[in-house]
Amino acid sequence: MLNQTDIDAQRLLDRFLRYVQVGTAADPNSENYPSSAGQLQLGRMLASELKEMGIEETHQDDHGLVWATVPATVPGSVPTILFNAHLDTSPEAPGEQVRPQVIQAYPGGDIPLAKESRVIRVADCPALEELAGHCLVTTDGTTLLGGDDKAGVAAIMELAQHLIENPRLPHGPVRILFTCDEEIGRGAQHMDLAKAAASAGYTLDGSGHGEVENENFSADQLTVRAIGYNIHPSIGKGRLINATRGLALLLSKLPIDSLSPESTDGKDGFMHPYTIGGGVGNAEAKILLRDFETHRLDDYANLVQTAADEVCQQMDGLKFEIERTRQYRNMADSLRRQPHVVNFATEALQQLNRDWKLGAIRGGTDGAMFSEMGLPTPNLSVGQHNIHSVLEFASLDEIVWAVEHAIKLLELWQAHGRS
Ligand SMILES: [Zn+2]
Repeated sequence: MLNQTDIDAQRLLDRFLRYVQVGTAADPNSENYPSSAGQLQLGRMLASELKEMGIEETHQDDHGLVWATVPATVPGSVPTILFNAHLDTSPEAPGEQVRPQVIQAYPGGDIPLAKESRVIRVADCPALEELAGHCLVTTDGTTLLGGDDKAGVAAIMELAQHLIENPRLPHGPVRILFTCDEEIGRGAQHMDLAKAAASAGYTLDGSGHGEVENENFSADQLTVRAIGYNIHPSIGKGRLINATRGLALLLSKLPIDSLSPESTDGKDGFMHPYTIGGGVGNAEAKILLRDFETHRLDDYANLVQTAADEVCQQMDGLKFEIERTRQYRNMADSLRRQPHVVNFATEALQQLNRDWKLGAIRGGTDGAMFSEMGLPTPNLSVGQHNIHSVLEFASLDEIVWAVEHAIKLLELWQAHGRS
């Protein structure tokens, strides 16, 4: 059963299924922009669908970003509001040949997937307890779904079509932007603030429903290179310096029971070594540093440096090179300067009689980057669940709610947001 609102849920579902079947996994090893051809393909599909809706101001730019504007339905100077979702999916689980499975009315309980004997368990995903009766979309267990963020893409596309079909809904100009390579931290790389020409933005890239995320991690990345000396092990005595061993030692000195993603939640930050490779001569690991308090990233970098110094004392001749890359910053600072951007989002949920809460993202979004650039952009729920995993699923009902949320939000902006 699809839920009974005037949003065309079946059309929204068809869209979502169409979009998730275009493989758009971001490729962190690619120098290209976007990093994968599927993102260009999906972008072309969206641009042509937007044009078919009659949205003339639509184009896919040289970098693969898709821009469009739904014209205002009310006169006067009403702020332009931007809605954003990202075209790419996470490279952390297979993202090609997605075979979505639709459960029209979820009866509750664990969900066995078609392949690999995989099961989405209520015990591991308490959000399922609220979703009985929803239309859910899962995978067959072999790939991710890509609801992160094609739920956002589908919601914004349906929003556009719904606005075009219902010209009596009051709203200012609605700017649409689909970005590329968000999952590998390049989502804002070709964002043109002047071209966006918006007063505020909202990313539709959140889990479940009813959440307005107005904070996110500040993030840096360390690349740690161990430099040893390789010689045949038979003649290694006193000569061989094993970079792999040195790097492993360094990582073993980082805490596991605290300051790690495995041991923290809520507002606690962490250090996360997430890739390692190399040989005797050279070895390299990458470590993510994450915290809501930006200054704590310095503490984490210092901990890694201290561990490296200790290893060098243990292993004569070993050297480390540690390179720190700035990734993104907590959006809270920028949003605090313009509180109405978040307030309209929560007010809209109240007016829809929905449960709502503010949330802090243990990660980043394109909106975090946009906020830092000067376009305040919190993140809104759009029905994603178990993201970056083969157990990923999405709730169509929650995607519908996200579209309704956006419509109400636009109504509030045109009524109260005029400068
Ligand atoms: Zn996302």
